[in-house]
Parts: sequence; C-alpha cells; structure tokens
Amino acid sequence: MRYSKFFIPTLKEVPAEAEIASHKLMLRAGMIRKIASGLYTYLPLGLRAIRKVENIVRQEMNRSGAVELLMPLVQPAELWKESGRWDHYGKELLRFKDRHGRDFCLGPTHEEVITDLIRKHIRSYRDLPLNLYQIQTKFRDEIRPRFGLMRAREFIMKDAYSFSATEESLDEIYQTMYKTYCRIFERCGLDFRPVEADTGSIGGHASHEFMVLADTGEDDIACCTKCNYAANTELAEVKKLQQQEPFAPGSEALKKVSTPGRKTVEEVTEFLNKKANDLIKTLIFLADEKPVAALVRGDHEINEVKLKKVLGAEELEMAGAETVEALTGAPVGFAGPLGLPDDVKVVADHSVAYMKDFVAGANEKDAHYTGLNWKRDLDVVSTHDIRVITEADPCPRCGAPIEIKRGIEVGHIFKLGTKYSEAMGATFLDSNGKEKPIIMGCYGIGIGRTVAAAIEQNHDERGIIFPVPIAPFEVIISLINVKDEKMSLIAKKLYDTLFENGIEVLFDDRNERPGVKFKDSELIGIPFRVTVGKKAVEEGVVEVTDRRTMKTELVAKEDVLQRLVSVLHD
Ligand code: ATP
Ligand code: MG
Repeated sequence: MRYSKFFIPTLKEVPAEAEIASHKLMLRAGMIRKIASGLYTYLPLGLRAIRKVENIVRQEMNRSGAVELLMPLVQPAELWKESGRWDHYGKELLRFKDRHGRDFCLGPTHEEVITDLIRKHIRSYRDLPLNLYQIQTKFRDEIRPRFGLMRAREFIMKDAYSFSATEESLDEIYQTMYKTYCRIFERCGLDFRPVEADTGSIGGHASHEFMVLADTGEDDIACCTKCNYAANTELAEVKKLQQQEPFAPGSEALKKVSTPGRKTVEEVTEFLNKKANDLIKTLIFLADEKPVAALVRGDHEINEVKLKKVLGAEELEMAGAETVEALTGAPVGFAGPLGLPDDVKVVADHSVAYMKDFVAGANEKDAHYTGLNWKRDLDVVSTHDIRVITEADPCPRCGAPIEIKRGIEVGHIFKLGTKYSEAMGATFLDSNGKEKPIIMGCYGIGIGRTVAAAIEQNHDERGIIFPVPIAPFEVIISLINVKDEKMSLIAKKLYDTLFENGIEVLFDDRNERPGVKFKDSELIGIPFRVTVGKKAVEEGVVEVTDRRTMKTELVAKEDVLQRLVSVLHD
C-alpha cells in the first residue's frame, strides 16, 4: 500500500472536542471522523485496526465452537413487545415507523431477533447446545456519547447468544466464553481484568465484565489487594460492621440550627465544624413514581443499582427540585429523616445505624438538626447495603484492603437463563418428552471500544503505539528522498519483498520532508519503521526503528525481511 494513494488525513492540532488520549489520537492519526454526535466514519487506517480486532474475535469465537450469522439492524416492534422490552428499554432504543405506519427500532442488541429464530427451528434437546454470534453494527441513542468510539451511538459489536438444555451446559459454554474472552484480549495486547458484574441468586456468578485498566475508564472496579476478587463498584458488596451495637444512644441534645445557604455535605459540615461522617445525607428518589428517602453517611455515596434492587423497583430516578420541595417543604439540600411525611419510604444504609449525635437536614430552608439520635428522636429504620464500596471497606471475600481502579468495559458475558425464552416461548422437548424453556447466555464485545482502549493503554507523547496484532500495518517504509532514483528503487524492492512475504507494509512514498514522514509514522503508531536513506545507497544498510522503544538498529537490506519476521512474531 502506498501512503500517497492511501487516505490518512492526519491533524497537527489536537481537536477541541476530544478529552482523552485515545480519542485525540484517533482523530489526529486520521483513523476516524465525526459526522454527528456519536456517529463516526471509520477512515481507512481506523477500519484496518477494527478489522484486525474483528478477525481475532472471529478466529477465537470459531475456535470455541460458536457459529457466525448476521441479523438485521432494523427490528420489528412486535418482537420487543413480546419480550416486554418495548416498554422498558427507554430512550436508548431508537424507534421509528416504516411507510406502512408499522413500528420498528434500530437494534441495540439482538436477544429478541435470535430468540425468535431459535423458537422456530429448535425442537429437541438433541438440537442443543448452540452458540451463535455476529459482528455487526448496533445503535444506542446514548444520553452522553463521548470519547469517540468508546461511547458512540452507532458502533460495532460482537454479540453471541447461547442456547442450552441444562444449567450445566450453560455453565460449560459460559466458562468457554470466559476463556475465549481472555484469549481475545490477550491477543489484542491489552492489560485487562475479568470483573464480577453480578452475583446471581443461584448458581454462582451470573455475569463478568472484561475491564481494560485505564485512568480514563468510566467504570470503577473494586480490586482486592490480596485475593483475586474484582468487582464493579456498582455491585461490589459492602460488608456490614459486626462489632458495634446498632442504634446506640448518644449524649448531645437535639438542636435545630440555622445553616443559611449551606446545602452540600462540605458546606454544612464546614459551617458546623463537623466531619462528613457526622452527617446523614438524605437523598430523595422516585421509585416507580413513589417517593423514597435514602439515607447514607455524609462521606459515602449512594449506589443506585443496589437501592433499586432493595426496593424491587423497575425504575428509579433522583427526584427533581420541585418534587423535593413539594415532599419535604424545603429546597434541595435541607432534607432529613426527622419530620418527613409518612408517605415517603425511608431506606437506610447499614452504616447509619452506627451513627450517634448526627447532623441532618431539618426539612426547612436554611436549617439542619444537630445532636440527632436514633430511638430518642427517630424511629429505628431497616438498613441495607445501598452504598458504593470505598477503599476503607474490606474485601467482601477475604477481608483484606480494597483498591479502587478505573476500567473500560470492553466485553461482557452474562447468564440470561430463561428470561427471553419464557417470554417468547422458545422451548424444547427434553429426553423425557417434556417441554422446557431453553436456557440462554449472551456474550458481547465492543470492537471499536477495544481499539480505543488499546490506544488508551498504548501511546506516548509522539502518538499511538499499536500492539502488533491490531496494528493497521505492521511495518512502514519511509523513503527519505523520492527524487533519488537509486534510493527509490531499493525502497520499492524492499516493499515488494516484504509484501510478497505476507508482511502488512505501508510504503511512505510521499514527496515530503523526512521530519514529516517520521512524525506521521510515529503518530499513526506503526510498530516498525524501515528508513531507506543515503546509507541504503552507499552501504546497503537501512534503519529499523521499534516504535515502542524508539530504538534504531542498522540492518543490511538483504536481512530486513528476516529481522522483521523475527521481531513481529516474537
Ligand atoms: P456500558 O455500561 O459501557 O454502557 P453496556 O453494559 O451497555 O456498556 P453491553 O450491553 O454489555 O454494554 O454491550 C456489550 C459491549 O458493547 C460492551 O462491553 C462494550 O464493549 C460495547 N458497548 C456498549 N455500549 C457501547 C457504546 N455506546 N459505544 C461503544 N461500545 C459500546
Ligand atoms: Mg450501556
């Protein structure tokens, strides 16, 4: 491939819209261009990297025994109504009508379509198990598309769906997918961790996310410093303190104090000369439209995933300012457990049971209580684990300290069970001729996000440093002077030799200054550069530069192929 004929519109300036390294670099290296929020064109270089990841995914999925198919992006509403998700998926599902007025949506995922296919063709346990996958475009109308391909609206996903007759068979496929995902992300050159994302009520862990460790990740992961426990903080369990007496009496008298304009935990505690853990934060939510007050200690964060589970709610949202005022009689910032109307359900975190003489809002503008105590001032409430784990909490498995790390979710494996097969009537006959719902699993990988995550982990101040397996090209030949015929001939011959030997090589034959060529080759991150300059003509040697170390060695032109083969495959 000749650089002069290839389309690589690199940018000198860092585009203002990009916040994180991978997004900036993918734009600067001419890999992607935005056409509208969350919608990108994959330029030739970007597409090559994407295809590399797709191919690794395809090879490993095929090796695992999964079978590829391709389903449509546009899906009829009827199937989504059958599964119940037409009403529950929310605004990420882009819906529209066709010319006949029928409802359709753009597929954010394909459980409905594949369950429909399977229910029409699977009859007996003998037809099972089956694991089908596709690599295809998805659309999700994300509320906040950002970071380029990391969180796009239109993006490429590998999604697989497995169908089993027994739980054991699902377990087996799940384990195979787990191992397959590890191999895929290893082959992509990523530093990643499988992380527990959900603990099923029966049968162990129902879900794992594959997280690439990076400070710019959107997910927080609780990692044990001793055992191999790692879980998304959305789900990481907080162990209840056992040693103390809950709801024990304090010593201070209850007082209502004026806190003019002090609303946040910091403002109130600083004003009252207290610590954040002396205060109870009262957060007002609407759970299936009913008001709920969630109580957590001032230095803790509420965990909405846990709260939603505790409440058994379908929908949970923070109440707006008007609702808070209508319910508590005070603007946002002054809610508290004492004096809340009876129709507001109170749910408290375990840790608040161990607080005494605490501060809380007085449900009155510019006022808080101090010296609040359980039993004397407030009825005892039932407590639950509704907060986010912190580094002060112990590992829920072994008790050792926890570390919170940031991660990018590149893959997700999930035991679905019979949710879709029951809703949509996908059944089979077991060996006794009894009709049963098929047991399902689903397994996703974000292809574009994987490329972005790889760049997030592999770059320096010069640009991208592609891991060889996903690099758009393995080698770039930089011809120093295109006007020098002898030099050009050597470069061209070298290019032909590498090409014929199956090395993916980009030939920088542009009439540009060497500095420009070097800068571009470093920005676009091709793992090895072969520089053909004066020495090639005079002494028959070229320079081979390793992009990662930026170390250069002189190699006789006859030995270049052998040298590259050995470094590329090492
Ligand atoms: P997230 O929590 O990041 O929104 P998700 O839980 O919605 O992800 P899944 O439905 O499990 O994601 O989708 C499978 C994979 O698809 C994810 O692991 C991720 O790699 C990728 N993915 C999901 N949403 C996007 C997006 N908006 N842009 C790019 N890739 C995405
Ligand atoms: Mg999502």
